[in-house]
Amino acid sequence: MKEDTLVVHEIYRSVQGESTFAGLPCTFVRLTGCNLRCSWCDTPQAFHGGKRMRREEVLAQALALATPLVELTGGEPLLQPGVIPLLAALCDAERTVLIETSGEADVSRVDPRVHKIMDLKAPGSGESHRNRWSNLDHLTRRDEIKFVLAGRGDYEWMRATIRERGLADRGVTLLASCVWGALRARDLVEWVLEDALPVRVQVQMHKVIWGPDAQGV
Ligand code: SF4
Repeated sequence: MKEDTLVVHEIYRSVQGESTFAGLPCTFVRLTGCNLRCSWCDTPQAFHGGKRMRREEVLAQALALATPLVELTGGEPLLQPGVIPLLAALCDAERTVLIETSGEADVSRVDPRVHKIMDLKAPGSGESHRNRWSNLDHLTRRDEIKFVLAGRGDYEWMRATIRERGLADRGVTLLASCVWGALRARDLVEWVLEDALPVRVQVQMHKVIWGPDAQGV
């Protein structure tokens, strides 16, 4: 069955970098493949290749790294049907489970115990037209929406989206971060304060620690 195997780019341990879980030790299961091509993507190496593995083997390797936190990422993990039962199995194993997803893929079948960290793509990504707005109806208080911003235009788009779609009233955590080298965090902070926007400003921790060429987590 298609759900019994997954194409895996890598399974490794690091610190979580881009959510309210930032800084915590975390096991990452990075899956191969993405149907978007964000202009600023820092994991293009995950678009192709990888190794096909049995789902049970992926689970065993992820649990063997022994962190309380496990994240599925990519690429876009939800393109592979085996992700849905893998997420449930990780929750059953009493891990705190995160999934980083692009906002294009349907999140409705994700186990409710999982923390969804979902992008809404701003225009600077070149993929804004792919946002699946119906996903907003499947987010709960445990979930987070992430805006990655490449400049003032993206910031204004985020501000309008938060207001027009009532995102602050949904109880979802709103994260705002800068495309490295394109927007200065100090400018973003200034704009957020001027507008009293209810977002949590983030820096890409992996780039602060390992340098600007570090891949996303
Ligand atoms: S959705 Fe994520 S992995 Fe896919 S192109 Fe955009 S940033 Fe890269």
